[in-house]
Amino acid sequence: MRLRRILGTVKSNMTTVDHIVAGSGIAGLCVARLLNMAGRSVRLVEKAPRIGGSLRRFRRKGLPFDTGFHFTGALGENGILRDMLRILGMRDAVRPLFPDPDQAHRFVFESLGKEIDVPCGLPRIRARLKDVFQGESRAIDGYFDRMEHVCRGTSAMSLDALSLSPRPVDEDYVTLQETLDELTDNALLKAVLSGFCMCYGTAPAQVSFANHARICLAMYEGVARVEHGGNAFIDAFSDLFKAGSVDISTGTWVEDCLDIENDRAGLFRLNTGEEIAASSCVLTMHPFEILRTLPRDRISKAFIDRIEAFEPSCGFFSVFGETDASENDSPTDQIVSLFPDIDLNALLDPTRTDDSALVILNSAEPVGTRTRLAVTGLEIASQASVAPWRNTRTGHRPPEYQAYKTERAERMLARMKAYSGVYGDRFRLLDNASPLTFRDWLHSPDGSAYGVRQKMGQYNLFGKLPVRNMYAAGQSAVLPGLVGAMVSAFMICRAVLGKDAFARLLHQGRQ
Ligand SMILES: Cc1cc2nc3c(=O)[nH]c(=O)nc-3n(C[C@H](O)[C@H](O)[C@H](O)COP(=O)(O)OP(=O)(O)OC[C@H]3O[C@@H](n4cnc5c(N)ncnc54)[C@H](O)[C@@H]3O)c2cc1C
Repeated sequence: MRLRRILGTVKSNMTTVDHIVAGSGIAGLCVARLLNMAGRSVRLVEKAPRIGGSLRRFRRKGLPFDTGFHFTGALGENGILRDMLRILGMRDAVRPLFPDPDQAHRFVFESLGKEIDVPCGLPRIRARLKDVFQGESRAIDGYFDRMEHVCRGTSAMSLDALSLSPRPVDEDYVTLQETLDELTDNALLKAVLSGFCMCYGTAPAQVSFANHARICLAMYEGVARVEHGGNAFIDAFSDLFKAGSVDISTGTWVEDCLDIENDRAGLFRLNTGEEIAASSCVLTMHPFEILRTLPRDRISKAFIDRIEAFEPSCGFFSVFGETDASENDSPTDQIVSLFPDIDLNALLDPTRTDDSALVILNSAEPVGTRTRLAVTGLEIASQASVAPWRNTRTGHRPPEYQAYKTERAERMLARMKAYSGVYGDRFRLLDNASPLTFRDWLHSPDGSAYGVRQKMGQYNLFGKLPVRNMYAAGQSAVLPGLVGAMVSAFMICRAVLGKDAFARLLHQGRQ
C-alpha cells in the first residue's frame, strides 16, 4: 500500500486513492492515464461540467468546431507526439490528417499584397524560402541549422531522456528577435520566420530562440489536423479510463490540503466536502489556479511573487461559421494566416486593440449524410481589448460588449472576404467568442490561449511544489500547445513514479 495511513477514525466521506490529478485538459488526462498504466489508482477532478478542457469540441447548427486544438506538429512517423500516443495506447484512436506538404501554410501580408506558401519538410521549406528571398540563403540556412541544433541538444525532445531539470543550451539566453536581427536585415523574411509565434503567443523580442525552436521545428517538419479534432483524444482517454481504475469527478476541485507533515499533505478536501487520502496530487491548471489551491501558510512570499509576475500569452477572438463553397475552392488542408503588419512584436503587443494576425482554418465535417465545411477564424486578441468587461461573466454581459463582438467579427470577416470570396456571400456566421468567452468556458484566469507567456529566462511553475507531494504540470509548465502540455505530463509522471518504473512504462507502451 503506497498510501500514507491516516490515523484515527475513517470518516464516511473519506476515500483513499494513490493519486489525485486536478484538471482534465490534455495534461491531466495524460497524467491520469500514465499513472493508471503503472498500476496506480487515480481520482481525476475537473472544475468544469465535462472533461477535456481546451480539447473539447462544440456544435453550432449541428456543425462541430474546435475550441483549443486545431493542428499540431510531431505526428509524423518519428514525431514525439506519435510516440506519446503509442505509449498511451491510443495511436490508432487518434488519426492524423496530413495536408498537401507543398502548401501547408499560407502567409498573407495584407499591407504588401503578398502571399507566401510555406511547405512542410525542412528541405522543401529551405528551398522555397531561398526561391522567394533571393540572396538570403545564409540567413535561411542559419535559422534552420540553429533550430535543429537546439532540438538535438534538448532532452525534452525525447521521452527516454526526460528530466525535471533539463540542461539549457546557449540559445536559451538569446531571443528569437536577436537571432533574426543577427541573421538578416530583411523585415519580411523575419516576419515569415517568426510567423509561428502565433502558435505559442509570445512576441519574438520576448521568447528565447531555443523555446521558439523547440515548439516550431516539429511544425516545420509537418503539421496535421486530427480526425474529429480534440474529441478524438477525449474519447480515446475515456475508453481507456473505463477499462482501468481512473475515477472522474466533474464540477469538482481541491479546496484544502490537510494533514501536512514534513511538507507533505496526507489528505485533500474537495469542494464537495469529500476528503481523499492520497500519496500525491498533480495540478495541471493555470499557475494562478495552482497558487490558489496551495495552502497559503506553506508558501513563501517569494514563491507568490514569482507566480504573480507571470504574464498571459495572447488570447484569440474567434469567428465560427460555414461556407457553401466546395472543398476545391476552400482547401481544408491549408492553414492561412493574414498579417496586417510585418512586425510580429507589434501584433503580439498585449496593449494592442487594432486588427492583428488572423488564422483561417477550414475543415470538412461529416454531418448526417452530408459533408459540411466548417470555418474558424482566430485573431490574436489581447486582454486589453476586453478589459471593460473583465468583471462580467458569460451570459451576463452588457449590450456594449455584444456591440464590441459584432464590430470585431465584422472586421475579421471583411479581411477574410478580401482574402477569398468563399468567406463572402457563401459564408454564414454561426457564432463568435472573445478571450472572455474562452476564460469562462475553460476556467482559466485570463482567457489566454497558451497559459503564461514564455518569456526568456522565466522560471516556470513546474515539478514539485512547496508541499512536496504536490506537483505542477500543464501548458504553462514546460512549453505550450498540445505537445508541450503532454510532455509536461510525461515529465511529471517520471518524477512521481521514479525513473525505473517510468522506463518500464515507456517500454511496455511501445510493445
Ligand atoms: C483558441 C485556442 C486555439 C488553440 N489552438 C491550438 C492548436 O491548434 N494546437 C495546439 O497544440 N494548441 C492550441 N491551443 C493551446 C492548447 O489548447 C493548450 O496548450 C492545451 O490544450 C492546454 O492543455 P492543458 O491540459 O494544459 O490545459 P487546459 O486544456 O486548459 O485544461 C485545464 C483544465 O483544468 C480545469 N481546471 C481549472 N481549474 C481547476 C481546478 N481548480 N480544479 C480542477 N480543474 C480545474 C479546466 O476546467 C480545464 O479543463 C489553442 C488554445 C486556444 C485557447
